[in-house]
Amino acid sequence: MISENPKKPLACWRGKERYNGEIVECLTVIFESGGCSWSRCRMCSYRFEKYKARSCDELSGHLHAQLAWVRSQFSLDEFAMIKIFTSGSFFDPAEVPPSFLPEVAGAFRGKIVIAESRPEYITRETIEQFVTALDDGTHAMPLYCAIGLETTSDPIREKCINKGFSYAAFTRALATAHAAGAGVKAYLLFKPLFLTEAEAVADMKLSLSDLTGRVEMVSMNPCTVQKRTELETYWKQGAYRPPYLWSVLSLLKDAPVEVTCDPLGGGQKRGPHNCGTCDYELVRGIRDYSLTGDRDLIGALLETECACKTEWEYVLAQEQPYCMPLTR
Ligand code: SF4
Ligand SMILES: [Zn+2]
Repeated sequence: MISENPKKPLACWRGKERYNGEIVECLTVIFESGGCSWSRCRMCSYRFEKYKARSCDELSGHLHAQLAWVRSQFSLDEFAMIKIFTSGSFFDPAEVPPSFLPEVAGAFRGKIVIAESRPEYITRETIEQFVTALDDGTHAMPLYCAIGLETTSDPIREKCINKGFSYAAFTRALATAHAAGAGVKAYLLFKPLFLTEAEAVADMKLSLSDLTGRVEMVSMNPCTVQKRTELETYWKQGAYRPPYLWSVLSLLKDAPVEVTCDPLGGGQKRGPHNCGTCDYELVRGIRDYSLTGDRDLIGALLETECACKTEWEYVLAQEQPYCMPLTR
């Protein structure tokens, strides 16, 4: 029997998001699920957040209780958009029992839902059913599948991230989502392990141009050093530095598509940072830009004077790539 006792999700908060040129109220929910089935990406610690259920029924009950908590704490009428995360893939049937999906769709019917998943779980049947249950005619596209593509380069996704899927797999999921009436939001990772600052900038530029006109939304995530990850091991050895905020600004300024960016950990040593003096203002500006889409603001921030800008330019020009064998 499913317990009616509400249980707080891993996290849940209200905020604002930019959607179709407007600012909308958004509720973000991170459900504690069965955990990521892949669980091997070099930079990821989210995969440690999982509920160890003894049965599918127990896991369903746990998820049901979290949804009950969300409904008890928030007046859902106040939100136009709901962002759903798990510590993996919302559409993975091993992680989120399929019986939970109609419950979620019923609770959030009439809203724009953005739900994160790896591409292999984006099947026509699953997405079509979810879209049908969500759709009350309010929005032309009620669902966006958010996919952590990270980069359009297969070698970088494989060697630097160990993501375990190809660009071709992403492209198939994109076509499936579109055919099922859903849009796609691509998450790109700026500066994965093993890339120099200049290589990372070049990779992001290419990824943004590859995705232009193909996906409905793009979000750039500057890499942060999360605990208990392979990335952290390298970082502790001085073999990795998170990206400069200057690089983030330069990418946003020239991006061929509208890109949102929330520089998590911005200004801190584990997150995207500059010198410590100029960081706060730049991070705040990047967050403002994600909401307003005001590129002039980005241009103005990029013109800010700080001694560390010369350092960044030097790094871009002089940093040398690793010269490691790619095979054993
Ligand atoms: S980044 Fe996503 S796919 Fe990779 S291990 Fe973490 S949760 Fe799983
Ligand atoms: Zn500075």
